[in-house]
Amino acid sequence: MMEFDTIAAISTPMGEGAIAIVRLSGPQAVATADRVYRGANQLLEVPTHTIHYGKLVDHETEQVVDEVMVSVMRAPKTFTREDVVELNCHGGVVAVNRVLELILAQPDVRLAEPGEFTKRAFLNGRIDLSQAEAVMDLIRAKTDRAMTVAIGQIEGRLSKLVQELREQLLQTIASIEVNIDYPEYDAEEMTQQIVQKDAGEVRRILTELLRTARQGKILREGLSTAIIGRPNVGKSSLLNTLVQEAKAIVTDIAGTTRDTIEEYVNVRGVPLKLIDTAGIRETEDIVERMGVEKSRQALNSADLILLVLNGNDELTQEDTLLFEAIRDMNAIIIVNKSDLAQQIDLTRVEELAAGRPVVTTSLLEEAGVNDLEAAIAALFFEQGVESQDMTYVSNARHIQLIKQASQMIEDALGAAEAAMPIDMVQIDLRRAWDTLGEINGDTAQDSLLDKLFSQFCLGK
Ligand code: GDP
Ligand code: ZN
Repeated sequence: MMEFDTIAAISTPMGEGAIAIVRLSGPQAVATADRVYRGANQLLEVPTHTIHYGKLVDHETEQVVDEVMVSVMRAPKTFTREDVVELNCHGGVVAVNRVLELILAQPDVRLAEPGEFTKRAFLNGRIDLSQAEAVMDLIRAKTDRAMTVAIGQIEGRLSKLVQELREQLLQTIASIEVNIDYPEYDAEEMTQQIVQKDAGEVRRILTELLRTARQGKILREGLSTAIIGRPNVGKSSLLNTLVQEAKAIVTDIAGTTRDTIEEYVNVRGVPLKLIDTAGIRETEDIVERMGVEKSRQALNSADLILLVLNGNDELTQEDTLLFEAIRDMNAIIIVNKSDLAQQIDLTRVEELAAGRPVVTTSLLEEAGVNDLEAAIAALFFEQGVESQDMTYVSNARHIQLIKQASQMIEDALGAAEAAMPIDMVQIDLRRAWDTLGEINGDTAQDSLLDKLFSQFCLGK
């Protein structure tokens, strides 16, 4: 294990929480806490993984700073694999800051950099890089399902797969090597066969993995969704219904800025990022403000359109224009006001929907809302594919590396097929092996590590 100094930081979100935790990690963690702790025991003597009630005092004046519960966890069974002490304070920004100041006033301890606890966990070999990144994703996860993906990564699902793929590449490289040593074989032809079979398999799995990337990205960032329709069809009602139905919105973590015109709702595990909800609430929708042509551009950035129609009315030219504007886009057509006499030509609506789902609702009476939610979920989890068991790549850096590695294998396949010198094939495979290694951090550079970990929240 590497030798580090002792670091400390507030590890709970800043705010008026009931409990705030100051966390220390490093060789002096227990001694530092012990110096300012007054309780039944000396912290230096208590067994590991135990919690102790007591007071924190200014070590010079013996003045009480806070009442605390102190957890003492000795290496190596800790998050960082170092000695860790957590001071559970009484909370309040002022109190917790005073405790942190007190700790930092002790010798041999300094304020942790953002992400430094996680960085240590990585450097001490407790987690690999993709797991460290998953910790960050977890902090930002918007819904339960995004949480599951992040947890899957922390558990090492992606790392394990990447590990296996690298193993396989290494084996491919080795078998090619063996061939070169037996000149009685036609080395080029053997190489071609081996590369096609083994490296081809690796590339297939990488392609598969990239297919999950879209879903992974949506889970992380939300499916950007626009509600459109002419005035009075029920857009605001739909927005309100979705917001109310959203039972498990994970609110943004303190410290990350929140875009005021975006609202996240969770529909059966699919996070929708509703675009321009302020516009709908206050000044009606984008189409009205900007006209169809301009709104078409705005709509293009959406992953999903919810087009609302009034079933109590005949289709108007404006409705047709809206259909026109969302041609070829992911959309769900909502025929609202089913509680009133139906005037709309449903056959025509189906025609214009062109295979996209049409759902009938009465938002006033909350009818059809389940159908709508099911339609949204079905769009996302194609044919009800259960997502929980899949290995997702959702991290932009991972996606980039997988794309690159995939391309390198492609190059190797091309080189083998063209009967290029075997060295060339080897080089491409070797580079793919290296590139995949960057996902887990096996081949990561120090500068990359610094950049990655500095993105973490302070105290994590
Ligand atoms: P927007 O202009 O598209 O945002 O539509 P609103 O959501 O503001 O709704 C316009 C009016 O239609 C309001 O008076 C709503 O109460 C009413 N409304 C919305 N949905 C329904 C529905 O399903 N049935 C009936 N009868 N009225 C509805
Ligand atoms: Zn409205």
